[in-house]
Amino acid sequence: MKKRIAILGSTGSIGTQALEVISEQPERFEVEVLTAQNQWELLVKQAIQHNPNVVVIGNESYYEKVRDALKPHDIKVFAGQKALNEVVEMSTVDMVLTAIVGSAGLIPTIHAIKAKKPIALANKETLVVAGELISALTLEYKVPVLPVDSEHSAIFQCLCGEFDNAIEKIILTGSGGPFRGKKTEELQQITKVQALKHPTWTMGQKITIDSASLMNKGLEVIEAKWLFDVDFDQIEVVIHPQSIVHSAVQFADGSIKAQLGLPDMKLPIQYAMAYPERLSTQYPRCDFAKIGSFTFEKPDMQTFRNLQLAYDSGRRGGNAPCVLNAANEVAVQAFLEDKIGFLQMSDLIETCLQKMPFEKNITLEILTETDKETRIFAEKYLN
Ligand code: NAD
Ligand code: MG
Repeated sequence: MKKRIAILGSTGSIGTQALEVISEQPERFEVEVLTAQNQWELLVKQAIQHNPNVVVIGNESYYEKVRDALKPHDIKVFAGQKALNEVVEMSTVDMVLTAIVGSAGLIPTIHAIKAKKPIALANKETLVVAGELISALTLEYKVPVLPVDSEHSAIFQCLCGEFDNAIEKIILTGSGGPFRGKKTEELQQITKVQALKHPTWTMGQKITIDSASLMNKGLEVIEAKWLFDVDFDQIEVVIHPQSIVHSAVQFADGSIKAQLGLPDMKLPIQYAMAYPERLSTQYPRCDFAKIGSFTFEKPDMQTFRNLQLAYDSGRRGGNAPCVLNAANEVAVQAFLEDKIGFLQMSDLIETCLQKMPFEKNITLEILTETDKETRIFAEKYLN
């Protein structure tokens, strides 16, 4: 039986790589649903190539264009947020890959969990904003969440076969981004062109900026907390510029298990989709002798304040990580539009964390409101 996959965000970096994986494993996977927000032409192209049952274009103003382009094909076309929430519930969907960027991924993910669909989770913002709620829901609906983020896939793989053995510490690695080693004065002049050049990974714009500012690592700390049920004190970030050791887990006896491989997102994507099986691939292999040496260093959280802000808001809990995430989404967008400088992103996030009302006990309604209000406050602050 082929696994029928719904890809939310198929036109993005993760989405397009997931489609490559599916094309490479035609006996194992087929595409059931494709969705995109604005890139309707690419969505149409993907639909014609992969022949899904359904496509959803998020931006309703492109609905007619997509519908007309797909008229000769036997593919249903829907538009808008409500459709996104409904397609994940279809009985023909075996797994939902959440590859939407930002907190927009939260609500469709909740719908998928409530419909008992296994989740291949790339959209880390979902766990940052609502980790507590999502963890409770996955327990209640007994839904597996297979991490796609390379670090979390690595941790997940390290935990296989460990049964009840407790985690002593998670060692979350990160490349350090393009500005590793730079000091605050040097970061003042950074342009978006420089920030968009990641040394080891090719990704969507938002996560690339997050990687440069170390916010990505901060979001991943919170993501790890909820995926693996550990305290923030048990998550240590280590900079590893080669991006070969994707992360590691230390156990009670002091032993450390790590997962290694060349930096290629198709590996964790395929692992999540095929779990618990490992499918054979032709991808290039990692040659230790060629690499020569691995290096590790402590992250500079004084210069890259976002990582510290993420730890702080994660520890605070409640709606604080939701504020962090919303403020960061506004900050990254403003940086990409040349409205603010690189360092001002952290200023904005810190201000939002100070000014937005704190709520300890959260509900989905409180989080939705927090997300909205933080964006309004952040936009005002910038203008
Ligand atoms: P991307 O910007 O390349 O693609 C985002 C996708 O989401 C697009 O298909 C877009 O149409 C869709 N989308 C955007 N806004 C939307 C909205 N409001 N509603 C519905 N759909 C919307 O992003 P990406 O780099 O592929 O990242 C996707 C997610 O995966 C992010 O959460 C990111 O942190 C995570 N992730 C990405 C990578 C990577 O290598 N790219 C690695 C690890 C984790
Ligand atoms: Mg990652």
